Amino acid sequence: MKKERKLIIAGNWKMTKTVAEALHLVDDLKTELAEIEAVDIAVFPPFTALSEVAKAIHSSNIHLGAQNMSEHNIGAHTGEIAAQMLKELSVRYVILGHSERRQDQKESDELISKKAQAAHAASIQPIICVGETLAEREAKRMEKVLETQVRGSLNGLSKDQAVNTIIAYEPVWAIGTGKTATTAQVQEAHEFIRGLLVKLFDESVARRVRIQYGGSVNPSNARELTSLPDVDGALVGGASLEARSFTEIVKNSSKEKNREELRGFLKI
Ligand code: PEP
Repeated sequence: MKKERKLIIAGNWKMTKTVAEALHLVDDLKTELAEIEAVDIAVFPPFTALSEVAKAIHSSNIHLGAQNMSEHNIGAHTGEIAAQMLKELSVRYVILGHSERRQDQKESDELISKKAQAAHAASIQPIICVGETLAEREAKRMEKVLETQVRGSLNGLSKDQAVNTIIAYEPVWAIGTGKTATTAQVQEAHEFIRGLLVKLFDESVARRVRIQYGGSVNPSNARELTSLPDVDGALVGGASLEARSFTEIVKNSSKEKNREELRGFLKI
């Protein structure tokens, strides 16, 4: 299947950064990454910093994302944030179903699919996270788990919405652990997910959906991982919290020729 997708490198800041710290980080990123065009770049600050970061990156090549949102549009949902409220702040992407939320808030695939539909209704692109735990991988249940999560979380999306959805494959055992999946494991999982998209939608949709890898991506492994044929970028946690490491990840990933080199090397 020919690759025709632009890479996207996303920095998930999780529950870190005051507004002042967030502004400091994006100021550095804006300077360091100003020349990058080959890759979509997005940062995902906590809700409290979205508004100020939105102003700081206005008319730069860095886009804004949120780490979560409600499945509801308005009403009595204390503590929740609706898609339109994010849209008002120029939020372009929203992470849904991160494994930390699947674990801590017990988010289900059904809930994630509702949120994805609400995001699309507000023209926000969801990044839907899927991935197996170590126990599931060891029990050889990876494919079953990924199939359940992808089917359930993308349920109800039209083909057009699916094309504008990003999937992040994040093996839970690789998140924040310093343990990166091997290139073979990553390519295998991404290829499997793309195959599922053919079954759920069609070949043309599957060819256009971007699938990011997430799990201890750093400046040294970014190039190899993002060069894999079915990997269309990275969702980065820890290494996105510091300007130098995130910049290096973006720059190392942006070398288009990497893919050609690696393809030759892997004989793909
Ligand atoms: C993540 O939070 O989605 C993530 C992949 O974190 P880390 O890069 O720290 O493993």
